[in-house]
Amino acid sequence: MPTTAEPSLTAPDCVFCGIVAGEVPATVVASDERALAFRDIEPKAPLHVLVVPRDHHADVAQLAAADPELLAAMVGLAEQVASDESGGQFRLVFNTGPTAGQSVFHVHGHVIGGTGLGWSPA
Ligand code: C5P
Repeated sequence: MPTTAEPSLTAPDCVFCGIVAGEVPATVVASDERALAFRDIEPKAPLHVLVVPRDHHADVAQLAAADPELLAAMVGLAEQVASDESGGQFRLVFNTGPTAGQSVFHVHGHVIGGTGLGWSPA
């Protein structure tokens, strides 16, 4: 699926900016003007897709402060993916900070579903 819109914010050496730009390979499953969704390369569930904004923001707290409408657009894209692939039910996780498990500092929501999910993050 082509990526169509140019982001207004990018960061050097950011792997997800590379995916947005089409320079790093990824399996894109949905996209719109401001965000895209692609399959996680190490899926933890039958449905495990990452939703990212085209613009670079480090984490969900920074995104919410800078551009809440873009965060809402990401949630909408997550819902679209879950509607297509897991009956509309999904978990949306934003790891925020290294101790919470964030390893890529371009905000991304993990859209997880497709199976019964337990509730034990540790
Ligand atoms: O929340 P966290 O920052 O740890 O999540 C990063 C996620 O990005 C991981 O689940 C990893 O598998 C995924 N990833 C990916 N494609 C890449 C690099 C990382 O799907 N090229």
